[in-house]
Amino acid sequence: MAYSTPLEARIAKKTTKAIVDFNLIEDGDRVMVGLSGGKDSWALMQTLDTLRRRAPITFSLVAVNVDSGYKDFKHDVIAKTCEERGWEYRIEHTAIGDVMDDLLEANATPCSLCARLRRGVLYRIASELGATKIALGHHLDDFIETLLLNLFFAGALKAMPARLVSDNGEHVVIRPLAYVGEDEARVYTKQVGLPIIGCCCPACGDLSLQRQRVKRLVLDLEREHPGVKQSMLKALGNVMPRHLLDTRLNPSGELRDTVALRLEDEQPSNLIQIRH
Ligand code: SF4
Repeated sequence: MAYSTPLEARIAKKTTKAIVDFNLIEDGDRVMVGLSGGKDSWALMQTLDTLRRRAPITFSLVAVNVDSGYKDFKHDVIAKTCEERGWEYRIEHTAIGDVMDDLLEANATPCSLCARLRRGVLYRIASELGATKIALGHHLDDFIETLLLNLFFAGALKAMPARLVSDNGEHVVIRPLAYVGEDEARVYTKQVGLPIIGCCCPACGDLSLQRQRVKRLVLDLEREHPGVKQSMLKALGNVMPRHLLDTRLNPSGELRDTVALRLEDEQPSNLIQIRH
């Protein structure tokens, strides 16, 4: 079965690679897709549905939208679109918006609290629906922006996992669009005629200053040096723990024992770094 467009084929290929690399979807899975109505979650739903029809394994999909309770949120458009496409779905009406108003300090950035509250709702619904995986629409740009945010502002070298088991071991969160770019998700969602819906919260589209800065930085670098984003993606899968300073990864005894051997293996540029 041919794909409708070259973009669809490219996104399907990248998503399949992520699914295989991280064992994201297995035979018999019931995958619950977190469907916010934004471009990324629509792209994820459409892509997984396309792959489902072609996959050599059997899995089912159910879309879940968590309505935070903001006035004017167009959950009816999400419901209608899912019905038209024959997608099983559930809209969960909540009062997350009101809870956020009560809990948030003035001037605090709401998105991380919002994400945690939504995640709690998704876990509960996953249990109710018997979902074996919870798929989220984070894409390549989210991975590298998160990496840089942690590097610059949180003192940690980490992005986000493509597959994560919840603390209680009951849920598996997956991110099948890990290799798909934000621009690809945006164009694809429009191309397949899915309606992009704003969440209607007061902070909608209002990224933190740090995230805005990181987005701009990556954009500028990519313009100057096309391929920077792909290099960062590659770096996430090409970690060399011995070239970092985490003593949990590099116990001092081991370092002493192996340093002479490694010096022999190093490229000249790395030798300079080691000697400094
Ligand atoms: S923009 Fe609004 S709805 Fe989206 S994560 Fe932030 S607080 Fe939540």
